[in-house]
Amino acid sequence: MDLGLEGRTALVCASSRGLGRACAYSLAREGVHVILNGRTEATLLDAAQEIQALTGRTVHTVVADVRSEAGRQALYEACPNPDILINNAGGPPPGDFREWAHDAWIAALEQNMLAPIFMIKHVIDGMLEREFGRIVNITSAAVKAPIPTLGLSNGARSGLTGFVAGLARQVVHKNVTINNLLPGPFETERLRANIDYVAKQQSASFEKIYEERKQSNPAKRFGQAEEFGDACAYLCAAQSGFMTGQNIVLDGGHYPGTL
Ligand code: NAD
Repeated sequence: MDLGLEGRTALVCASSRGLGRACAYSLAREGVHVILNGRTEATLLDAAQEIQALTGRTVHTVVADVRSEAGRQALYEACPNPDILINNAGGPPPGDFREWAHDAWIAALEQNMLAPIFMIKHVIDGMLEREFGRIVNITSAAVKAPIPTLGLSNGARSGLTGFVAGLARQVVHKNVTINNLLPGPFETERLRANIDYVAKQQSASFEKIYEERKQSNPAKRFGQAEEFGDACAYLCAAQSGFMTGQNIVLDGGHYPGTL
């Protein structure tokens, strides 16, 4: 299926590895000019070279921390009029909510709620004028089924989800869509860090918890980042203009509800 994206431009936040990188790769493969972002230049350049080699497309990079206004400004300057915006950042640390002081909450809100909202604020008017825009926020399956140890993530991402639900309905008449992709367990460094935390808490080995989590998923495996990237590319497709304000879970069937 041709996604009709040839020649479009995408700003992909936090894309030097993991799910963000996979989204950038899938979009580049569809002929999109991709701007990659990460905080460490060497890792970012490696990712860019890899995507260029795999797709034959030129990929640009912006070293910036998406949590800061200065970082976001650098992204806007490098790509003032993206057709596609993929919002992503690291996830907040796991823990017990009794241990989180005010600063921890503010950091989570900055990273997983306010940074994507400010990114959207910057790009949306241009998208409305050009009558094409695709915004995908990488959130978490925790928005639909909260994970007890990830209270900061459960809370901050739900705030973003509520905001997006309102905004998406105000911009779709100009062919601008906003959707959230909710990853369940995907085999990335973030997943390994979370498993490591649980293993230490339970005084169990990493391998034991890793295997238990894998077997407890109906798919009996973890998701692969490429599967996530391809779902993201589909949400950005020319043909996806009637799908907006949705929260799409990719979790191998782990969420047990009918709807
Ligand atoms: P990851 O840790 O493997 O990769 C995160 C990427 O974001 C890295 O390239 C990192 O350098 C970059 N990054 C982090 N903070 C940044 C910042 N402030 N500015 C710019 N770049 C930044 O994580 P992942 O597994 O790809 O997860 C992506 C998002 O999805 C995270 O928010 C994570 O919490 C969430 N998530 C992941 C899973 C999973 O199983 N992998 C499940 C649920 C939610």
